[in-house]
Amino acid sequence: MKEGKNKLEEKLLLKRENGWDKTGDKKSVFEFAEEYKVFLDKSRTERLCAEEIVQLTKSCKTYGFMFANKAGLDYEKLIFVNRGKNVALVLKGKKPIEEGINIIVSHIDSPSLHLKQIPVSEDGNSGTAIFRTHYYGGIKKYQWVSRPLALYGVIVKQDGKVVNVSIGKEKDEPVLFIPDLLPHLANKAQKLSPNTNISDIIPGEKLCALAGSIPIEDKEAKERIKLNILNALYEKYGIKEEDLISSELMLVPADDVRDVGLDRSMIMGYGHDDKSCAYTSLRALLDIVGNNIRPERTVAVFFFDKEEIGSEGNTSASSTFLEEVMARLQGRNTDIERNLRVFRNSRVISADVAAGVNPNWPEPNEMTNADKIGYGVCIKKFTGHGGKYEASDANAEFVGFVRNILNKNNITWQSGEMGKVDEGGGGTIAKIFAKRGMEVIDVGLPVMSMHAPSEIISKVDLYETYRFYKAFLMEV
Ligand code: MN
Ligand code: MN
Repeated sequence: MKEGKNKLEEKLLLKRENGWDKTGDKKSVFEFAEEYKVFLDKSRTERLCAEEIVQLTKSCKTYGFMFANKAGLDYEKLIFVNRGKNVALVLKGKKPIEEGINIIVSHIDSPSLHLKQIPVSEDGNSGTAIFRTHYYGGIKKYQWVSRPLALYGVIVKQDGKVVNVSIGKEKDEPVLFIPDLLPHLANKAQKLSPNTNISDIIPGEKLCALAGSIPIEDKEAKERIKLNILNALYEKYGIKEEDLISSELMLVPADDVRDVGLDRSMIMGYGHDDKSCAYTSLRALLDIVGNNIRPERTVAVFFFDKEEIGSEGNTSASSTFLEEVMARLQGRNTDIERNLRVFRNSRVISADVAAGVNPNWPEPNEMTNADKIGYGVCIKKFTGHGGKYEASDANAEFVGFVRNILNKNNITWQSGEMGKVDEGGGGTIAKIFAKRGMEVIDVGLPVMSMHAPSEIISKVDLYETYRFYKAFLMEV
């Protein structure tokens, strides 16, 4: 009897396998993680990440990628860069483009604290100068206080000259810091009212960072500490207060990327969402090119900006950048009908992270359909919220197609949704590609502590995701 039951179990039940049990190649898993850690460390803003993607692509000299605006129409390996924040890499295949493209799309922006356009104020109460911020993306504000922050970005002068800013990353540089209230005085000031969400215990306007505390010597001046900070900026970057109005400056965590766990199985870092998917898709494409493989179908990887604020803006997935790349690939032979056919025949992996179950907070999950770190790539038929609102909900045919790729390549994978029904939810850029008529599904790795200044991923999931992206790109 028992044997019969086990046979049926074997025959019928969905297997949920631990990636560490299944992988035969732990050495490659750990080596790949080290390379990713270097990438993540350098990619703290979308601009820096775009730069790093281009650098990694160009540094493989034999790969022969060329910027699209410089390459001839028939050239096979192309880099497109949009305003320094948005990149696409294309490798033309043997088949005509009308048969469709295999595309992986991810995003390279992450939640952060943007400096306001008039950021520097003198605070007489505390005797300090502060940087006022406006948060970017969905954050729990209390997580961003009492921790080292680095300041990155650009300041554009009136004559168009761009000044790059980077303070706080190197060990000998100062960091920025948002002071929290001491527990001794927090009883009233930070008491939660029944309607306050934990994300808002610290109001947005209280996310001001300490900029300095030494006044300039001229005692006649009014805001002497603020002036000293502006003077420091002037001496280092040659800018004045008005120049900050045309700036994009952001505070991001200054923490190092570190291994987590006594077994070093996990990685703590800022911006795994979504640079873990960006890196794995980049590596997948560069590996194909590096091995001198000419795929059957044209393959492309896209890295977008502005996903964390709803994909608006001309560097987001909703911009015309995709059309621009597609038009360029079709050369002079473009017409609407042909263009739509390319879209219809294309397959897209929306490469974005999933929510891994948190040991302290299993409550929001329905465990049969929850993703766990260490259990491989997550496929998500749909995202959205409530009754699948704002989800593109992949066609079952395409889910089957992806499942086939996963299984025939022996990749560890799982299927989950973000939390219990009506518990919350979230969206990705998948629906933007679905609107264009492409087949699309979300596939990425699980993250714990998502959108926190440091997030957690598993090294084995990272590696399995990379293996899947490569197999997907090569699929005929
Ligand atoms: Mn994401
Ligand atoms: Mn996100």
